[in-house]
Amino acid sequence: MTDLTLALDIGGTKIAAALVDPSGALVHRATLPTPRTDAEAVWSVCAQLIASAVAAGRGEVSRVGIGSAGPIDLPAGTVSPINLTVWQRFPIVSRVATLTGLPVRLGGDGLCMAMGERWCGAGRDARFLLGMVVSTGVGGGLVLDGAPYDGRTGNAGHVGHVVVDPGGALCSCGGHGCVETVAAGPRMVQWARSQGWTAPPDADAKELASAAVAGDAVARQAYERGARAVAAMIASVGAVCDLDLVVIGGGVARAGALLFDPLRAALADYAGLSFLRDLRVLPAQLGGDAGLVGAAALAIAG
Ligand code: ADP
Ligand code: ZN
Repeated sequence: MTDLTLALDIGGTKIAAALVDPSGALVHRATLPTPRTDAEAVWSVCAQLIASAVAAGRGEVSRVGIGSAGPIDLPAGTVSPINLTVWQRFPIVSRVATLTGLPVRLGGDGLCMAMGERWCGAGRDARFLLGMVVSTGVGGGLVLDGAPYDGRTGNAGHVGHVVVDPGGALCSCGGHGCVETVAAGPRMVQWARSQGWTAPPDADAKELASAAVAGDAVARQAYERGARAVAAMIASVGAVCDLDLVVIGGGVARAGALLFDPLRAALADYAGLSFLRDLRVLPAQLGGDAGLVGAAALAIAG
């Protein structure tokens, strides 16, 4: 008999479920688009995915891990994804516990990404790890002393909202100058356009990367500027948490050396303290599966 964990990954565009075996392998998976009509429609998609995973598990499912777009309220067991307005303060933990009769562990999507990379990806065995994504936004989660760090409400590790430019641009969070306002894919594209980068209206950070590689000076500067902002954030979080490793995933990290080279150079510049000299920065390895693998890792960690 295998000890399986049911993982649920809830995002604003899709909801995924998987069965994860004790080695971290996904042995069953299914994905459906996230409805935007009303709260019960979103829940019924979750319930459908859970029911088919439980059936596929043939009585071998021991626990459920849920990773959700935030904010979440861990003490209340509710989620309020910022990009899913019909689903606010939704009591996901009690609903899933009632449906399955199993223990349920909830965490933010950034924390799950960090836990997934630590279990099966680039963060294997790191004791003090920041797992983060640079994508449409910037997010992350912390594993401290080998354990997931939730914080008071379950929202610790929101590193996208570390301020790197006091008085900088308005952020989606309502603040100003957060690293997300400089380094998120759409923000780098916006900055490049403001500096004269001419590209079709639908061009995104991927086209910006191609332009930079082809030698466009503004596109290159946009990536350097984003990379420097991420490095400033990492130096700050690294100093606060005494980290040993940062793993970066998300669409923009697919630009590879274009992001990582200036990021590591800037980090060497910012991270002056002796205990930060060994801080390593690596690309994520799990891609889109990190959330599911990490939700399972979180449930197993308890
Ligand atoms: P989401 O934000 O929905 O989780 P992604 O992680 O795929 O989705 O991130 C989307 C962002 O990543 C967009 O800004 C997109 O332009 C950018 N992106 C996707 N692929 C690449 C690439 N190869 N190089 C640079 N940026 C990319
Ligand atoms: Zn912000």
